[in-house]
Amino acid sequence: MKTKFFRKLMFVCALVGLVSVVFAKKPIKTLIITGQNNHNWQVSHVVLKQILENSGRFVVDYAISPAQGKDMSSFLIDFTPYGLVVLDYNGDAWPEETNKRFLSYVQNGGGVVVYHAADNAFSQWKEFNEICALGGWEGRNEKSGPWVYWVDGKLIKDSSPGVGGSHGQQHEYVLTARTSEHPIMKGLPHEWKHAKDELYDRMRGPGNIKDLLYTAYSDKATGGSGREEPLIFTVDYGKARIFHTMLGHAGPTVEDSPSMQCAGFQITLLRGAEWAATGKVTQKVPKDMMLKDKSVSLPQYK
Ligand code: ZN
Repeated sequence: MKTKFFRKLMFVCALVGLVSVVFAKKPIKTLIITGQNNHNWQVSHVVLKQILENSGRFVVDYAISPAQGKDMSSFLIDFTPYGLVVLDYNGDAWPEETNKRFLSYVQNGGGVVVYHAADNAFSQWKEFNEICALGGWEGRNEKSGPWVYWVDGKLIKDSSPGVGGSHGQQHEYVLTARTSEHPIMKGLPHEWKHAKDELYDRMRGPGNIKDLLYTAYSDKATGGSGREEPLIFTVDYGKARIFHTMLGHAGPTVEDSPSMQCAGFQITLLRGAEWAATGKVTQKVPKDMMLKDKSVSLPQYK
């Protein structure tokens, strides 16, 4: 009798094990594109990989370009294995073939994360600017599209002439949610304080923001625009799922990169990345990591 019971128990345990293996979420195959940037990409791409992989939800490869000014013709990227592409690149033009493959990946519903200065890249590439919705620097001005900012409960587009892209001194600032409905936002606080970082302002572009997730006030006292700037949003671009975060200016070393060590940066990045790859967010929001009054640091990127 006893043996029969134990046999049954063993069978049930084996079955549960098998089911959980079959239904375990497979990590999302992710590609970080980097290798040139006016930023410290040697730090940022390593940190991005750590944040993504430490979550257990992603496995990350790199596509590292030749150095600036070198022959780019060998920089051919195969996007087909990937469920997510993270842009950490701001430099020389990619080969035409890579541009074509990237557009085909995105237009066929690919997932993309636009991270910080990646939105500075390729100011003359129309489709790339539509994929970012907003960009800055690299000669951007009113010809690149309107400024887009938050006034009285809605986003407005302002076509006045002027710079495209600017920021004041780095400082800590509060992010304010502009929706709670999006899957990325479920369980996230209305307001949280970000670690010391740049606050991008006066960005310009086609402005095809789909869901505005968080804005922050760019104070003139810190050299900003005096406007409520859109900093985290999704982009309206066909079937693609695109998550754009303007946060996360890389520090001097992996161990000393305060804005990327901010829990709020990491949590929003991870949720945005999972949504971009799958359309869903399965990660739980950790408790007391995004507080209104003080930024929380996760120096180990987990
Ligand atoms: Zn920066």
